[in-house]
Amino acid sequence: MSVLEKMTSAEAIALEEKYGAHNYHPLPVVLNRGEGVYVWDVDGKKYYDFLSAYSAVNQGHCHPRIVDAIIEQSKTLALTSRAFYNDKLGVYEEFITNYFGFDKVLPMNTGAEAVETALKLCRKWAYEKKGINENDAQIIVCDGNFHGRTTTIISFSNDENARKNFGPYTAGFISVPYDDVAALEKVIKSSKNIAGFLVEPIQGEAGVYTPATDYLAKAKALCEANNVLFIADEVQTGIARTGSLLAVCGSCSCDATCEKQATYVQPDILILGKALSGGAYPVSAVLANDSIMNVIKPGQHGSTFGGNPVAAAVAMAALGVVTDEKLAVNARKLGKIFRDELDAFIATSNIATLVRGKGLLNAVVINDTEESDTAWNICVRLAENGLLAKPTHGNIIRFAPPLVMTEEELRACVGIIINTLKEFEK
Ligand SMILES: *Cc1c(COP(=O)(O)O)cnc(C)c1O
Repeated sequence: MSVLEKMTSAEAIALEEKYGAHNYHPLPVVLNRGEGVYVWDVDGKKYYDFLSAYSAVNQGHCHPRIVDAIIEQSKTLALTSRAFYNDKLGVYEEFITNYFGFDKVLPMNTGAEAVETALKLCRKWAYEKKGINENDAQIIVCDGNFHGRTTTIISFSNDENARKNFGPYTAGFISVPYDDVAALEKVIKSSKNIAGFLVEPIQGEAGVYTPATDYLAKAKALCEANNVLFIADEVQTGIARTGSLLAVCGSCSCDATCEKQATYVQPDILILGKALSGGAYPVSAVLANDSIMNVIKPGQHGSTFGGNPVAAAVAMAALGVVTDEKLAVNARKLGKIFRDELDAFIATSNIATLVRGKGLLNAVVINDTEESDTAWNICVRLAENGLLAKPTHGNIIRFAPPLVMTEEELRACVGIIINTLKEFEK
């Protein structure tokens, strides 16, 4: 087929089916353009994007400032590797460490790589600073976690589909129930070999589980009291998604631009990815203070592409957009409207049972079993009605639009969602 011919949806799907590994199960929608909160399919049909590439596109599709940063830097210098210095990396490192309030950053590319980096950093700190005997370090994780797809990360997943037949698994992890301070305390105090606690401030993939408002603060206090590193995976929740710059900012009602929010919990290690580039480029980062980050010496960790000049330029542009367009405040405001409107509908409905979330990371629980295909069918119908969303687990649908949405657009989307849910009313 010549590149000038327009590809039909069926042709595009058939190509992926035949030549691509079947490691995803996409909705049958073939997209070829995006702008702001919208994407278009190959037939020109326009949709609201309510997934935002799993919260990577917080700044909206093809944001001109981010696209310009890529183009300009790509024309100048794209990759040097870390064998040499380049004139963008240091500028970016100063920018991002000031932005999030840490001494140092270690730049990587994908979320899973950043999680791996944080785990390695935590283990090395445990042996060289905490004094744990070599190979004895344990890191606590949470049931229902999602931290990526590498061999080590799936070793401590309890999603059978993600784990089964990928063993043998990496040792050194203990899983505790999420949002359960007592369970965490018991394990932290059970051994001198606990090095860190890895946690998602909200469990996104698991179905947008928001913990009790004091969970993170109590967990952090336990970590501090026991010399255990508190490691926050904000790959999905970070960068304004939940109505504050980071979800560890807690849920106080103050303005998102304030520096010290009442329930702010400072992680010892912060993991970022996804929206760090506004979805334009794979950029991830691990942030920590010197006492931790300085355990990594030359040759002990790295990545050919990590911290490349394009990534540095893109991340600075993407974070600049978050600040200048006040995306955290907007996410906070629109998220409240979304949940209020859905709550009012759910009170009258028997197809949806619950809406939960924070800022613009929300989920609606569908009144059917986890094994049912009702949530999938609702998402197919939502697409026909001009809105793209995807079930997370079985009967849970995540709703996470780009944060550049206006209130008018959000209200239109709530209309589409409610009208579609009504079609499935029992
Ligand atoms: C998406 C995600 C990751 C993995 O990021 P990739 O870029 O897909 O490797 C890790 N942690 C959380 C919480 C995520 O949502």
